[in-house]
Amino acid sequence: MTIKAKSATNGAPVHAPKSQADSALVTALTQFDRAARILELDEGDAATLRTCQRELTVNFPVKMRDGKVRNFTGFRVHHNTSRGPTKGGIRYAPHVSLDEVRALAMWMTWKCAVVNIPYGGAKGGVLVDPKQHNLHELEGITRRYTTEISVLLSPDGDIPAPDMGTNAQTMAWIMDTYSMHRGHSVPAIVTGKPLNIGGSAGRHEATGRGVMFTVREAFRSMGWTFEGARVAVQGFGNVGSITAITAHEMGAKVIAVSDIDGGLHNSRGINMPRLRQWHKEHGTIKGFDGGDWITNAELFGLKTDVLIPAAMENQLTSQTAPTVRARMVAEGANGPTTPEGDAILNDKGIIVIPDILCNAGGVVVSYFEWVQSLQQLFWEEDDINSRLEKIMIRSYHDVKDRADSLKIDLRTGAQVLGIGRVAEASRTRGLYP
Ligand code: GLU
Repeated sequence: MTIKAKSATNGAPVHAPKSQADSALVTALTQFDRAARILELDEGDAATLRTCQRELTVNFPVKMRDGKVRNFTGFRVHHNTSRGPTKGGIRYAPHVSLDEVRALAMWMTWKCAVVNIPYGGAKGGVLVDPKQHNLHELEGITRRYTTEISVLLSPDGDIPAPDMGTNAQTMAWIMDTYSMHRGHSVPAIVTGKPLNIGGSAGRHEATGRGVMFTVREAFRSMGWTFEGARVAVQGFGNVGSITAITAHEMGAKVIAVSDIDGGLHNSRGINMPRLRQWHKEHGTIKGFDGGDWITNAELFGLKTDVLIPAAMENQLTSQTAPTVRARMVAEGANGPTTPEGDAILNDKGIIVIPDILCNAGGVVVSYFEWVQSLQQLFWEEDDINSRLEKIMIRSYHDVKDRADSLKIDLRTGAQVLGIGRVAEASRTRGLYP
């Protein structure tokens, strides 16, 4: 079989352009170093925690619908296992890089520690644009990738979940592939799987709901009125869309949303049930007549109470942060704010609810799903939601108290809390051998 050189990486570079891919890791490490200094971590311990424990790169062939073979590159990274098995999503995107996956795995470790669930952090990714492939090809890519990284996966060792470009169907294929190799069903190998094969009620909505539980609690603790608060959401994928719908259902006023094509603005409040219906039918918010069309850059500059970046990394930067006029930024995405952007927002007195707290609802309900899968016992959605709300509220106050007592911002407070818990677990376990 001949494999053409140009298909070797599915047409995409193995590592994404430096400007974007490297900066997620730079952001994660800058945040880590600041927290490590405050915690006065020993140099050796800090060096351990700022490095990923295991990193696997896989290159694998998949037969496409037209009979041709294409080669793909993927990664699975375990950042730290001190507090338990590693947990974290798998993303499919044309420019995933090892550095990006490292950063995201590290954030998963701190995130799980901040909400105090017994996991370490992991992340995976495949350099592929899912929009360029039909379901048959995506299934082939997923099954082969799963097989290639299976040395790292197990229900008590490393449990993947959806992330950008993947969904419940992807998780079903991963679960089936892993189960076929074992000769029996292993539902606890993934979370975010469909309900009919052991998924959890409320998992699909969990990240967006968690974002709004946290924002509402932050409003309460600041003495601000949540009812009628203006909310702008960047991103209309799983996280952004559910965040916007939940904000509306909780009584806030969603004045702007956006997706990759651009944004929609209505200062009187967008009719979210109608927009949701439109999006269901058309797969985009574009063309909806309930507001004015704006750019993503204009969305950032809107005068609003809460701005929620829920798309991807590196959105609030030295260029965009100066335009922000919100009272609060709530990070639905992972790593949406660069260190320069962060400093600008802080100088402007804007409260930033950091990603590792704000978007942790997804992994919290993943934890519930994993527990249910291991026990083969299922909980009602009401029960899931009230447990989620309790954890988000408790975690917000844990972070706020830490930040207040150290006189630092919420991001550094969350990092100090999460990293401190991981360092403590690692000290308690001791060093092997
Ligand atoms: N990908 C999600 C995150 O970034 C969820 C991870 C999980 O549920 O394991 O938090």
